Amino acid sequence: MSTLALVVAAGAGRRAPGARPKQYRLLAGEPVLRRTVRRLRLCTAIAAVRVVIDPRHRDLYEEAVGDLGLGPPIAGGASRRESVRRGLEALAGEPPARVLVHDAARPFVSPSLCERVLRRLEAGAEAVVPVLPVTDSLRRLVEDRIREEVPREGVYRVQTPQGFAFATILEAHRRTAAASATDDSAIALAADVEVHTVPGEEDNIKLTLPEDFARAERILAGERPRFRTGFGYDVHALDPGRPLVLCGVTIPGAPGLAGHSDADVGLHALTDALLATIGAGDIGSHFPPGEARWRNAPSHIFLEHARDLVTTAGGRIEHVDVTILCEQPRLAPHREAMRGRIGALLGLPPEAVSVKATTSEGLGFVGRREGIAACAVATVGLPPGGTDVR
Ligand code: MG
Repeated sequence: MSTLALVVAAGAGRRAPGARPKQYRLLAGEPVLRRTVRRLRLCTAIAAVRVVIDPRHRDLYEEAVGDLGLGPPIAGGASRRESVRRGLEALAGEPPARVLVHDAARPFVSPSLCERVLRRLEAGAEAVVPVLPVTDSLRRLVEDRIREEVPREGVYRVQTPQGFAFATILEAHRRTAAASATDDSAIALAADVEVHTVPGEEDNIKLTLPEDFARAERILAGERPRFRTGFGYDVHALDPGRPLVLCGVTIPGAPGLAGHSDADVGLHALTDALLATIGAGDIGSHFPPGEARWRNAPSHIFLEHARDLVTTAGGRIEHVDVTILCEQPRLAPHREAMRGRIGALLGLPPEAVSVKATTSEGLGFVGRREGIAACAVATVGLPPGGTDVR
């Protein structure tokens, strides 16, 4: 594995008061840690993300990112430095070539910043940190009185992600007793490693004080979701020996459909429409029809899987619309039940779920009552800045 991101999330976050530590607080409805991990995964050069946590926060961790398929969390220590050291030691058995160490409380990290750091590492640097110039004047205070001017020439603010050759930073952490070190670049420096710099980003703020959360909410409010529309289509032939299931509702007394699963043509079309919104292939690529475990499977399994993929990508399902092409039976009496079932599966209110049915006026395979077809359209709002579908 070439590059791994190590997220430091073991702090108590005491300076930002709240019911839970800041890395687990909600930002625009999403835990800070989840957003941070999602943003890191936008950088395709990062093969995996691991998180160092306070083991007492395991429940909060699972709630925030338990569904993202990360490796198990790593138990941190009493200080940030100790947490990073334990994180590096946990990776040492199967060491990556490079590691990006990143603060959980910086949820605006961008793929371009990660790539900038990594390019410098690949060019031969062993330690790379993003920095920003200081534009305000600096003064040293004693209590609330200014005591002296601090020249700002050559003074920079240091951010994360900080990138390192893995063996170099592990060795530095093992060997160096730099008690004053506040980050890993300071550990590297104390170990006589040359630390290179790349330009940081002003939006890559660290959430520390209550006003930082307010600023973060303002940044997010200025970002508009990117809406994506997906289309799905499916057909199944009639099989009078099976029950008819459409949009999760069993319709008594009607001839059913042939298929490996329950042959719910409506949910199959809808599953494909949802997968299409994030470019995640089709139902057959996720659930190969030859596999025995999907025999007679209820199709809500497929829809729930597509829903979870969209959610994991940071997407929000806004609206779905299913049209069933069917000569018989009449579907109007079952329409509300179908809308309700889809709404329950996707967590959508009634007005966001449309189910329509039409005959085919006696024309074609539908008109000859040889099968039933369905079309579906799904609209999903994705967060600005990309998704993390892999
Ligand atoms: Mg199908």
